[in-house]
Formats: sequence, C-alpha cells, structure tokens
Amino acid sequence: MGYRFELTRSKWLKALLKSRVFQPALMLVTLFFFVVAILAGFFGTPAGSHNFGIIFVWIVWWALLIIVLVPFFGRMWCTICPIPGPGEWLQRRGIIQRTPGRPRSLRWRWPRRLRNIWLQNFGFLAVAIFSTVILTRPGVTAWLLLGMMLLGVTLSIFYENRVFCRYVCPVGGFIGLYSLTSSTELRVKDVQVCREHTTKDCVIGTEHSYGCPWMVFPGNLERNTYCGLCTECLKACPKDNVALNLRPFGTDLLVAKGRSLDEAYKALIMLACALLYSGVLLGPWGWVKDWANMATLPQWAAYAAGFLAINLLVVPGLFWLTTAVARRVGQIQLPVKRLFIDYAYSLVPMGLIGWIAFSFSFVFVNGSYAVSVLSDPFGWGWDLLGTRSVPWTPLLPGLVAALQVALLLVGLVFSSIIAYRIARQHTRTDVQAWHSTLPVSAFLAGVTLVFMRLYLG
Ligand code: SF4
Ligand code: SF4
Repeated sequence: MGYRFELTRSKWLKALLKSRVFQPALMLVTLFFFVVAILAGFFGTPAGSHNFGIIFVWIVWWALLIIVLVPFFGRMWCTICPIPGPGEWLQRRGIIQRTPGRPRSLRWRWPRRLRNIWLQNFGFLAVAIFSTVILTRPGVTAWLLLGMMLLGVTLSIFYENRVFCRYVCPVGGFIGLYSLTSSTELRVKDVQVCREHTTKDCVIGTEHSYGCPWMVFPGNLERNTYCGLCTECLKACPKDNVALNLRPFGTDLLVAKGRSLDEAYKALIMLACALLYSGVLLGPWGWVKDWANMATLPQWAAYAAGFLAINLLVVPGLFWLTTAVARRVGQIQLPVKRLFIDYAYSLVPMGLIGWIAFSFSFVFVNGSYAVSVLSDPFGWGWDLLGTRSVPWTPLLPGLVAALQVALLLVGLVFSSIIAYRIARQHTRTDVQAWHSTLPVSAFLAGVTLVFMRLYLG
C-alpha cells in the first residue's frame, strides 16, 4: 500500500461527514439547480447560450465534474447528485433523520446478468449518439434530465438501494471508472477489524445510519468504482474503522481484483467518444456536425451507425491487435482476452485527460455565459443578480491550445507508466515488461497525435 494521508483525522471534517444533514443539504441545493435547469429547458429561450439548462448542465456542471470532482475527489458528485434523491427519500420515507425499519421497496431482485456496467455502457452510447442535439436544444436536455430522475424513482420503487446508480446511470458508469485515478478514497483502516466485527453495521445499518445503499461491503473495498461516497458507513461504524484518505493519483488502476470486460469496454468507449466528440464538435468537418445534428434522418442514421461501429468495433479491434502484439513481444502467457482487459485500464488516465482537454475548448471559450445566465436563467430578460449584461468573454484564448497539448502529454506519460506497471504484473523481468509496454504506448501515442491534430487544427 502506497502513501496515504487520512483526511478524517480532522475532527471537523469527520463531524461534518458523520452529520445526517451533510448529504441531504447538498443534494437539496443541487436539486434546486436541477429543477431550474429542467424548467429552463421546457419554458426558457431556445437559444442555448442564454438558457440555464444548457450553460449550467453542459458547461458549469460538466467542467466541475470532469476537471475537478472526478480527478481529485472520485465519486464525490454521487454524494451530492440530485437524480437519485427523490427515489431514495421515498424508500426511506424521510430525508434527513434515519427512519426506523428497512427502507421500503417492492424488493425485486436485480437480474444477475445485469450486475455489471454493460447497461451503463450502452446507456452512455445511446445518449452520446444524440449528444449534438442534446447539447444545443434546451428542451431535449430537459427531457433527458427529467427522464433520468423518473427512471431513478421508478427503479427505487421496485428495487432496494441505489440500483439505478450502481447499474443504470450512464453518468455513474464513467464516474466510477475514472474515479480509479482519483487522489481520494474511502477505505477501512484495518481490514482485520472488519473481519472480526460480526455485526457488520455498515452493511445492515444502525439506529442512526443506513446499510450501504451501493451494496458494497466497505471492508472489501480496494477500488473506488462502486463506492458512491455516501458516508453512511462512516456514520455506522462503531469501531471508527472507516477513513477518507488522500493518496497518489491512479492507485486503483493497479488493483488486479475486479478488472472485467465491461469496465475495459467502458475505458475504450470513453476514449473513443472523447476523440469523436472532439472531431465532430471541434473538427473542420461541418458536414459531420450537420449529420450529427439530425439535418436529415438518413444522415443521422449513417452518423449513428458510424459512431457505434467506431466505439464498439474499430477502437476495441485496434486495441485487441495492440494487446496481441504486446503479449507476443513481452512473452506473456496469459490469454489475449485477459491481457486486453488488463491493459484497457492503462487507457483510463489518457481518456480522462482527453475529456479534460476537450472540455477546455468550450469551458474557456463559453464559460463566461454562466455569469449572465445566472441573472437571467430563462432568457426572459430578468436581471436577478445584476449580471445579465456581462458580455461574453473568452478566457485565455491564446493559451487553451498550449494547455491542451501539455495535458495530453501528461496523459501519454501517465498512461504509459500504468501500462508498464500492469505489464510488470504479468512478466518475469523488467525487460519483458518494457517490450510488452511498447505497443500499448504506441497506441497511446497515436491517440495523443489524433487529439493534438484536432485541437491544433
Ligand atoms: S450514479 Fe448517476 S444518478 Fe447516481 S449519484 Fe452518481 S451521477 Fe447521480
Ligand atoms: S462503502 Fe460507505 S461510503 Fe461507499 S457507498 Fe457504501 S456506505 Fe456509502
């Protein structure tokens, strides 16, 4: 185990996280903005740059999520996300205090074959093929947000706990994967204490806390992927054995336990989507953007078919070939499929950094719209905070490309180091590991060059 600094040594932070008010208070704040975004989508101006739904969801929230929360705080968005709130509060028949008894639902059992993130992979792709439409039309954004919340409520009526978050939410799927890189983790301090503590209060719940709503046993946690940082186990543990730690970036990418094909595909899909979004929205090909924007239905269908083929066949196919070469030159005895899964985790830092670089393109350019939209969320001419007339001002226009290049190079080095360390888990010598890493690094270098070509023009 590498370096750890326990943040919950701070009595102040621990008291805050253990308070029953902490999570619902933040969820109620985000729920307020969520409702405003939906209302703005349905009733506000159709001009995206003046509509709260578009600016606050796809620029402010997105930037906060991908640039700050995921890399530094893992799944912390899921601590404050409003989407599962109403469903969870319905199950608990309350918002703040622990209500007596087991949370209510019809207690259907989630199908075993869906206990993975394939639904989240396909859900993300389903949203992604409509993304140009969603990002530019406030009404479509509003339907998407409302639909997600209704689905969350419906599932919480039939199933216990956060089935929606764990197995369905398309946002939760990639947050979970990318939180493997994050510099924060929730873990138990001493695994042995958990083994010997027979009542398992963190699973069952106590008078003051609920059992883990994410269906996780904290005593077994080795990766961030499925811990929604709800802090219930911190509240429950009578042994004071749960901690929030700072740790080196990317720690979980080296944990072999739990690696799986659905997560590997998630890494590939996210990387391919970052490339495709960059090409469609920032590239010089206006016709692709028109097709993506549903200029005509047949054109959009052709775009969607191409989009899915690149995500599900072309990029995974190229990476499979890369892995096969890496296996041969590194003299690794594992089946190609096993190595394909393991090496896919080396794509995670590159994918996350690719998304951050992509986000810089529009966050710096269009972020200033947020100031005026805050005063006039519906585009109706209100001036709530006196900032409606603040003009659109692109930030650091001369620096964005340089920042993107620097970030991508960091991503290339970070991912290559992870690839080497994964290779080292399967080879007898350093030299074999270096040989095996080379094809993966070449793949990553190719991805970096495509990103740079798109950002530098
Ligand atoms: S998994 Fe999705 S719905 Fe659940 S908390 Fe995370 S982002 Fe929100
Ligand atoms: S492990 Fe703890 S913090 Fe994580 S989801 Fe379960 S109860 Fe919440």
